[in-house]
Amino acid sequence: MRAVRARLFFIVIACLSTYIVFKVYPESFMGKEAMVLAILSVMVLVHCFYRIAPMRHILARIEALQERLPHERKLDLIYRKDEFHLVEEMLTLTENQLKEQRESFENQQIQSDMVLDYIPNAVVIVDKFKNCKRFNRRFEKKFVQGKNALLVDQVKLWKVFENSEILPAFEKTLATGERSLLAGIRIGETNEYFDVSIAPVQDNKGQLTGALGIFHNVTQAKLTEKMRVDFVANVSHEIRTPLTSIKGYAQLLAAHKDSLPAQLPQVLEKINNNTERLKDLFDNLLKLSVIESSNELKSEFFDFKDLIAQISARLRGKYLNKNFEIKLETDELKVWGDKKLLDQVFSNLVDNALKYSDKESSLVSIRARELGQELHISVRDNGSGFSSTEADRIFERFYRIQGQSAHPVEGSGLGLSIVKHILAKHGGSIKASSEKGEGSTFTVCLPKMAEC
Ligand code: ADP
Repeated sequence: MRAVRARLFFIVIACLSTYIVFKVYPESFMGKEAMVLAILSVMVLVHCFYRIAPMRHILARIEALQERLPHERKLDLIYRKDEFHLVEEMLTLTENQLKEQRESFENQQIQSDMVLDYIPNAVVIVDKFKNCKRFNRRFEKKFVQGKNALLVDQVKLWKVFENSEILPAFEKTLATGERSLLAGIRIGETNEYFDVSIAPVQDNKGQLTGALGIFHNVTQAKLTEKMRVDFVANVSHEIRTPLTSIKGYAQLLAAHKDSLPAQLPQVLEKINNNTERLKDLFDNLLKLSVIESSNELKSEFFDFKDLIAQISARLRGKYLNKNFEIKLETDELKVWGDKKLLDQVFSNLVDNALKYSDKESSLVSIRARELGQELHISVRDNGSGFSSTEADRIFERFYRIQGQSAHPVEGSGLGLSIVKHILAKHGGSIKASSEKGEGSTFTVCLPKMAEC
């Protein structure tokens, strides 16, 4: 349309100029012709100039594109002088490049599909609206098959994991861009357990576009773990009966010590102590096993002062001949956690504080303070203490410091290991600091919860 208009415009101008020339120079015919020809030539030149303007623009762009071409292709273009040839060449080149790009994209797609399929875990990539954009065969077989999860040509994550804790974990990652981890969860009605790791997916501008979920099957490990716990529980249970019986006979004999040979009461006391130690060891092993294997916490807010009062009362019964004071330097404190397990933590710490003290009068101070999003509770004693090199090792299973006290102190080396595991389950931790002979401080860190 524009071209037709331009031509019409030039024809009108040419007619007008011929008319004006004939009017202005009526006498000389040759002069008129020459003038008309000159005007027409100028018009044609101007027309041509405007007609080739887009072409010049295209050539300039080809020139710029050429700069970015690989060397071998650049040469091909340079030696073609004809502009139309150059344009055609460039079009062919672009077409070939598009083809190559499409092929390379398809190859990459095949390769990434293969990688996904050969990963030994179920993998899914979802977009922001929880549509499953890509998943591997393992994911399809385990979670999608047999479910009516397809809606408007897309597999919906919320249909795949209906009423499962997986969905909120994906939602959290999609909302915050943070990783989510779920350990040993049972999915659906199957008897299978998975560790689920959910990571955010970003585009090349760093914008969150979806999430990647990796499902690692831990059923076998769970079963082995269960077998281990059951085994320890059974052994502990089975051992308790003969131990109680040995202890009972030893006590029976000790009751008749007057009619026994002189060394026997001592031997009986040793039997008694050792059976008690064995009982303690199996009890602790059982506790550790159960804590390690279970993921459930019965968390609630409880009064810390009450808890310490109960622990003190129990320990008064245990250390009847010991002179000690347990001082709580905090007034009101509500702690969030599994009360039974945290009772175990503070019982073990206060018990150790009294056990590893040769002092005539032992003092155990308990103090709590809030630090950011954490609650720090320290248990300080004036006992035998230990060197700084032992501070980390004492949390290892069965680790006991040798020759620490003047009198041998009985124990299994499992108490602090139990403490550490319980706190880890609560998302907390424990630190020990001490100077040999100067007492020690154990600081428990727990995540702080806002009371409703
Ligand atoms: P156990 O007391 O049964 O030996 P624990 O795991 O409770 O086992 O403690 C490990 C070791 O750490 C103890 O054997 C002891 O050497 C040291 N320990 C723990 N608490 C204290 C404490 N309050 N003061 C000095 N040493 C301690």
